[in-house]
Amino acid sequence: MVTIATLGSHSALNILAGAKDEGFNTLLLCEKSRRFYERFRVADKIMYLDSLSELRKHSLQEDLIEEDVILIPHGSFISYLDLDFLENEFSVPIFGNKFLFRHESDRVLEQEWFHQAQLRTPRTFTPETIDRRVIVKYHGAKGGKGYFTVDSPREYAEKAGEVDGEVQIQEWIHGVTMYFHYFQSPLSGELELTSIDRRYETTADAVHAAPDRDPTYVVVGNFPLVIRESLLEQVFDQGDKIVSASRDLDLDHRGLIGPFCLETIVTDTPEIVVFEISARIVAGTNPFVPYSPYTYAKYFEPMSTGRRIAREIKCALQEERIADLIT
Ligand code: AMP
Repeated sequence: MVTIATLGSHSALNILAGAKDEGFNTLLLCEKSRRFYERFRVADKIMYLDSLSELRKHSLQEDLIEEDVILIPHGSFISYLDLDFLENEFSVPIFGNKFLFRHESDRVLEQEWFHQAQLRTPRTFTPETIDRRVIVKYHGAKGGKGYFTVDSPREYAEKAGEVDGEVQIQEWIHGVTMYFHYFQSPLSGELELTSIDRRYETTADAVHAAPDRDPTYVVVGNFPLVIRESLLEQVFDQGDKIVSASRDLDLDHRGLIGPFCLETIVTDTPEIVVFEISARIVAGTNPFVPYSPYTYAKYFEPMSTGRRIAREIKCALQEERIADLIT
């Protein structure tokens, strides 16, 4: 009997609640300091670790394989295990395509992917070519920490003293952020839109209280959203294009498997401009337990992203196609 497992962070409640909905055994791998998961009822078993980096131990991986574990990766998972290790040494089956995590973590690879998919993205600049408002971003910066905006090469030079590390200079897009959550099913070959969120960012969402301060973009929560229905054609079109382009990124040409997210800014044209991708479940799907307006219109029953993952695994086990879902 397969056990669905994840790490105690990020979207663990969503993932494990969905697994229970579909009748799976569930396991939570958790740091000792996070006792709060015991207050919920989604984990049949909690395995406490001194640190999540203990997942590097071969003996622990062997125990998980012994228990027929399928591990659902999320954002915290990627930050605890380095990509080389994950790709080459980690032996526990992972739901989704772990070989694409590199492309979401590296801004250059990510840009190439967007380019291949012919998505509208913010233009990038060198310090000398800045001719409009730009946002200066660090590579791999967590939660937008340290980002700043400038309007000219001169202003950049004035603020460049603050630059610490490699940056990408991106066209500032005037509009509102929308994060589109998709699910690509290897079983049906279909792309589904599961939900949409926007992030609650401190201090960007509090800037009216202190307009003289540069905003920071530390994510502390998520709001559920729906998009104007006439824009859904564009949303599916972008999803289809990114899935199609993803098949050129890994050696097996499997491309995106399961949940992923396009992070966008929607302008008043209205146009959807994509600035980032996550190739796995995002925490923005958490407000949609047990369902979203979009999953309800397809399933007419509770269907969160956690449950959608578990449903895919369940059907794949019945059809003996589980190898199609894991890497
Ligand atoms: P990120 O860390 O890349 O997710 O970006 C953090 C926040 O910065 C986003 O939620 C947006 O509010 C803002 N942002 C990022 N890129 C742009 C852009 N090109 N134009 C305008 N705002 C942006």
